[in-house]
Amino acid sequence: MAADKKASKGRAKLETVRNIGIAAHIDAGKTTLTERVLFFTGASHRIGEVHDGAAHMDWMDEEKAHGITITSAVTKCPWKKHLIQIVDTPGHVDFTIEVERAMRVLDGAIIVMDGVRGVEPQTETVWRQANKFDIPRLIFVNKMDRPGADYRRAMASLETRLKGHPVPVCVPLEGNRVADLIHDQIWSFAGERGEEVTVAPMDDATRNSLEDLRETMLLAAAEIDEDLEEAVLEGGPVDADKITAALRQATIEGTVHPVFGGSALKNWGVQPLLDGVLGLLPSPLERPASVGIDRKGEEHLIEMDASAPLAALAFKVQLWEGRRHVFVRVFRGKLAPGDKVRIAGTHDVERVARVFDVDAHKKDRLDEARAGQIALLAGLRLATTGDTLCDPAHEITLERIVAREPVLGLAVEPEGAGMEEKFLEVMGKVCAEDPTLRFGEDEDTGQRILEGMGELHLQIVFERIEREFGVKIRAGRPRVMVRETVAAAGASNTLVDRVIRIGEDKELPLKARVSCRITPLERGAGMTVAVNPKILPEGTVLNPAQMEAVQQGAEDAAGAGPAEGAPLQDVKVEVLEVETYGEPSTAQALRIATSQAVRSALSEGGGLVLRPLMNTTVVCPDENMGQVLGDLQSRGAIISGQENADGTSIIHGLAPLEGLLGYTTELRSI
Ligand code: GDP
Ligand code: MG
Repeated sequence: MAADKKASKGRAKLETVRNIGIAAHIDAGKTTLTERVLFFTGASHRIGEVHDGAAHMDWMDEEKAHGITITSAVTKCPWKKHLIQIVDTPGHVDFTIEVERAMRVLDGAIIVMDGVRGVEPQTETVWRQANKFDIPRLIFVNKMDRPGADYRRAMASLETRLKGHPVPVCVPLEGNRVADLIHDQIWSFAGERGEEVTVAPMDDATRNSLEDLRETMLLAAAEIDEDLEEAVLEGGPVDADKITAALRQATIEGTVHPVFGGSALKNWGVQPLLDGVLGLLPSPLERPASVGIDRKGEEHLIEMDASAPLAALAFKVQLWEGRRHVFVRVFRGKLAPGDKVRIAGTHDVERVARVFDVDAHKKDRLDEARAGQIALLAGLRLATTGDTLCDPAHEITLERIVAREPVLGLAVEPEGAGMEEKFLEVMGKVCAEDPTLRFGEDEDTGQRILEGMGELHLQIVFERIEREFGVKIRAGRPRVMVRETVAAAGASNTLVDRVIRIGEDKELPLKARVSCRITPLERGAGMTVAVNPKILPEGTVLNPAQMEAVQQGAEDAAGAGPAEGAPLQDVKVEVLEVETYGEPSTAQALRIATSQAVRSALSEGGGLVLRPLMNTTVVCPDENMGQVLGDLQSRGAIISGQENADGTSIIHGLAPLEGLLGYTTELRSI
């Protein structure tokens, strides 16, 4: 116990550390499982149930009110002389950015599945993200206490829907037991909280009934280890440690996904899963080195070496008692209070005032944080999510986490007089913390708009602002952020030849001709504005003011699409030719001619409005299926599939975000 206490102070040897995330579709039981992990590891002395809003990890008030998990927080769980650090990841689709941020700094993950429902839409999302960051993972098939739960079916859905490589390791059995296929044992969980664990050799009847699963597991291990292969083929006893070592290697390589099962709520099967985290998931030292890019754009491998120059990734900014704190994972070197760090890619050097070890809403001061550790820093004003903090003398950038474009905007204003200044300050703070939020002014209406990833996302932001800063926000109707592109290429040759009057009797002639071309680019390519025109008459040279005017004119016109004036994307604009006519070809004339030329080329190409489409899945009782389907279609949804299981229907499709505003409320009333 003494050793475990020490480990929890953040000084654990790296080989005994497991940085893991627990990810799942909403309601699969992530929070409940996390609570059990905290309890069994002694990190928390009581079990908080989600339904009474007492769960330890869901510590933000909004999370309690909404019963979901939003903010990544780190919790330390000492287990069998190891330290499991859980980075809590949210399960709601509106907060996917938080899941990705957390993934980037994890060494492994537990994917929780609902044993009745199998793979769900968010399971797919987190699976993709885990693939993206090569995160080794274990599966926990939860809710095995519910009627209709099926471990084998869950494994099959992992294989078919996620193209995973499930390998059974712990199979839930009747009576709060699990069969441990590696050790050929049966675990039983008794006591009020499943804390009374008994382990006994497996009986023949159970072994026979699980023969096929054990075979699958052994063959997966044998693929890694030739000695094992022989033993397996001969059918004799196989050494459990050897199996574990082989499966561990395959899990770290991502070719095997060990599957556990039980019920978090019934405290059934959690301890073997924790053993699995130690036995099958990597320590920070076993992860491949990450890649960093230096000033010259050259790539370097960042080995986890505490004596090398610092490289740390900021993955979360959080306000703590109104003060700014930054979560980092140290990838190389170490960080101590008083250290100066550079934000890579900038001239900003900041001083770290304090370094903390974090544990959900508690923090303990540390003398230093070393490579492989996750820590919380105080004193940084500028560093934000995705920034690399490095030794000022050794600049290096770890891959940047890319934030998403917001899809929904709301007009916002503070309620009550005299709140203006505070309102602006608070908006600045919340946007700094969450890169998926954007605050700005609508040029046409003068309204202030807050943009984010969805209705729930924005609603939670408002509630938080009110509680934490005492600013009540009045919000207008939601507005879906559209963008535009062009349908086809276009070109234009535009002559501007006009006279503008200045005052009573002064006239100013303006004359210029510009030809340009626009080309649609593939989705996600962004905008390119290329101004490199041929100047006529031959031999003419534009002065800097004229050049600037052409550039400006092109950019003005490229800012808005031809259909609805929405921001334009994925178009290449080229200014090909500029003809001047002496005196009247002023900078102003060139700017007007260029922007008119680009505008008319864009119109010729034809505007295409891009609206956010949401990957939509609706789960409803069979008898409501027809009605739900009809309603979805009336909202413009394209239905791509339907499934039925145990009286429940699942509808998959794509739906325009506009059609989904307020949808959950209406769905409930159906
Ligand atoms: P999360 O959204 O993934 O964090 O899921 P929660 O942990 O909040 O659980 C969602 C609901 O499922 C809650 O009402 C839990 O009490 C319930 N739940 C969680 N695990 C189990 C389980 O193993 N069995 C059963 N029957 N219910 C569970
Ligand atoms: Mg939760």
